[in-house]
Amino acid sequence: MKRRGVLAAMGGAAAFGWTAIGRTARAAQPYTGPLFDAHLHYNEESFAPYPIADVFARMQRSGVRAIVANSRPNDGTKQLADASAQAAAAGVTVVPFVRLYRNRDDYTGWFKDETIHTMVLKELERGTAAGPYRGIGEFHLYDSANANGPVARSLMQLAKQRNLVVLAHVDDAAIDLLMAHAPGTRLIWAHTGIGGASVARVRELLQRYPSLCGELSYRPGLTGADGLLSSEWAGLFAEHAQRFMIGSDTWVNARWSDYEPLMAQYRHWLGALPAAGAQRIAWGNAAGLFGIATPT
Ligand SMILES: [Zn+2]
Repeated sequence: MKRRGVLAAMGGAAAFGWTAIGRTARAAQPYTGPLFDAHLHYNEESFAPYPIADVFARMQRSGVRAIVANSRPNDGTKQLADASAQAAAAGVTVVPFVRLYRNRDDYTGWFKDETIHTMVLKELERGTAAGPYRGIGEFHLYDSANANGPVARSLMQLAKQRNLVVLAHVDDAAIDLLMAHAPGTRLIWAHTGIGGASVARVRELLQRYPSLCGELSYRPGLTGADGLLSSEWAGLFAEHAQRFMIGSDTWVNARWSDYEPLMAQYRHWLGALPAAGAQRIAWGNAAGLFGIATPT
């Protein structure tokens, strides 16, 4: 633990109540408020081992009260959206996103595949039982240059025109390229850079793009061996608590099996933050993005 580093990184954040972060003392009390899972997949291979009733039960046991739902193909999202009685019983609001993938092959070619653009337009027109789609993604760009693919450009512009949120698994270079297509688009950066873009670079991008938020699953360097935030990340949250959110990223079945421990890990480090900042990252930022009321 680098307490001195934490306090140094706090800088002028005293006014926001971040100075006495007391990592050790407060970590004993996990965050107990609502969670918004802003990065959830219900892909087709999860249907049999984790049926709808089971996934909602996992959310309920974890205190997850809203989800960004997307899936490969979009059928899983529709199942979640259709299950309004189960969602209501579990106290979960489903925020549907259109995913770009009909199958695994689409991960690597969607950015130049006009049939994907057509499919997205059709899905948006159709909507879901839980209401209109609110976003596009998650999509992946394994080579940031593909952010300049024609369909990547069109979809960013579509998102801006229709006020859709984009969930993008990309590197920091691709953030600049995507935002250049449609400045001001609301973009959730999945994992806030799974390749480990430096905290300084993340800070620079947040400052450059006011509509950029970071989702924190799999983020390298976020927490230390004690499961608490590293001093660098505590410092970044002190400056930008309104720009981060949490997610499960249930991209494979193992993530569903670990759903409750994953959410408990978030509650552990959130519990060491000032209460208002923890609530924002756990719930408030994502809820604000989609206009979801805080559960009582
Ligand atoms: Zn994902």
